[in-house]
Amino acid sequence: MSIRPSVVWFRRDLRLEDHAALQRAAADGPVLALFVIDPAFDSAGERRRAVLSEMLRRLDAQLEGNLVVRRGAPIAVVPEVAAAIGATDVHVTRDYAPYGHARDAAVSAALRATGHRLVGSGSSLVVPPGTVTKDDGNPYAVFTPFRKRWSAVRREVASPLGAAPTNVDWVSIDGIDLGVDGPWGLVLDTALPDHSMVDVDATGALARWDRFRSDALSRYSDDRDRPAIDGTSGLSCALRFGLVHPARLLADLEPGHPSHDVFESELVWRDFYADVLNRRPDSAWSNLDHRLDGIVVDTDGRAHERFRRWCEGSTGFPIVDAGMRQLRATGWMHNRVRMIVASFLVKDLHLPWQWGARWFMRHLIDGDLASNNHGWQWAAGTGTDAAPYFRVFNPWAQAERFDPDGTYRERWVPELGSDDYPAPMVDHAVERAEALRRYEATRAR
Ligand SMILES: Cc1cc2nc3c(=O)[nH]c(=O)nc-3n(C[C@H](O)[C@H](O)[C@H](O)COP(=O)(O)OP(=O)(O)OC[C@H]3O[C@@H](n4cnc5c(N)ncnc54)[C@H](O)[C@@H]3O)c2cc1C
Repeated sequence: MSIRPSVVWFRRDLRLEDHAALQRAAADGPVLALFVIDPAFDSAGERRRAVLSEMLRRLDAQLEGNLVVRRGAPIAVVPEVAAAIGATDVHVTRDYAPYGHARDAAVSAALRATGHRLVGSGSSLVVPPGTVTKDDGNPYAVFTPFRKRWSAVRREVASPLGAAPTNVDWVSIDGIDLGVDGPWGLVLDTALPDHSMVDVDATGALARWDRFRSDALSRYSDDRDRPAIDGTSGLSCALRFGLVHPARLLADLEPGHPSHDVFESELVWRDFYADVLNRRPDSAWSNLDHRLDGIVVDTDGRAHERFRRWCEGSTGFPIVDAGMRQLRATGWMHNRVRMIVASFLVKDLHLPWQWGARWFMRHLIDGDLASNNHGWQWAAGTGTDAAPYFRVFNPWAQAERFDPDGTYRERWVPELGSDDYPAPMVDHAVERAEALRRYEATRAR
């Protein structure tokens, strides 16, 4: 065993359990726990940064005050910290998203230049991108065969499961003080309306999982589409920041139970979109399916006015407005409603899906480039399989089907039915026909 200290650079893995990189570092000798406040985070919405601040404070408490938080570009900060303690290795959980991947390549080169190493272990996914392939090594373009193969491959992938390492000799050096209002002067609003979807540490996230498992999970396949019901796990924020690893959740599922299988499938979607984005980083902000590049979208002054009404939740379509207000108020929106508001933006308002995706990334605490932008492309019909462009959600029918007694709509749009509520800003039947006309025009080219 070497007694050389090493650095564990935490990113989207803010936990001590089920942490392959930490286990590896702790087996080697003393460990410095590092988090870098990257200037790139400044573009994340205020609520996501406030949540991150709180998560860092909790992680620091778990580490008995030994989390070293530094501010600056990782390419400069990480080698500096490694040199300061004479560490050879900097351990990280591998990041496959476009920004993280490029950042790590740059940091790895900078470390190498000064005789250090970036050592990657595990990932925040069950199966890392590039692992689930066809027999000929080509990637899957559609979800269902991906999922089938994922089930077979999953068993061969090393599981990160493991208790937090004990008796770690933590090394500490100066870092910034997280204080009460964190690095951005943002305090997490603990008085969030409605049930908050935010856990700020692994204990909270695992307690939420236990509650969900003992109650709603068995009804998940029926209740998950009902926004008025607390029928989903609410773990997307915890998964996004890595307070829990998805393998921990999978380990608790009973194979063959219909609801458990559907839940597993949702976690496979998460892996699938990460795989697609890793393979096609350009698909973050451009159509995955270039055949639809020619669809005409509106971007003039009137389009901006329509977008403003969509953002503030005053479209006159109660299910859309309810979702958009839930997002602003809590930083989370139910999945069914995410699909409805996304379809509405693209097919009823004819706006670029990128406008909506950017708004979501700014306001969602669970905002994740792969799941969000491919969720948007799914709704827009420009992405992977499943929702061809000509399939247009009817917001009235969706509301009747998934919020039959109106509980969700009334919760978020209390003025519904009064003179204060606006008339529908468009006629769905007319805009549906217009969306189909634009689609046909593209095909005819
Ligand atoms: C337009 C649009 C944008 C979205 N943006 C995001 C986003 O930025 N971040 C994000 O985590 N999810 C996103 N989703 C997926 C999904 O809406 C959320 O993951 C889900 O609502 C989170 O709630 P939950 O944890 O209670 O989900 P549950 O139903 O309990 O699902 C469990 C977990 O599975 C994963 N999951 C579920 N559905 C999906 C899906 N369709 N795609 C990928 N992963 C999924 C999530 O990690 C989720 O936490 C988006 C979906 C759409 C249609």
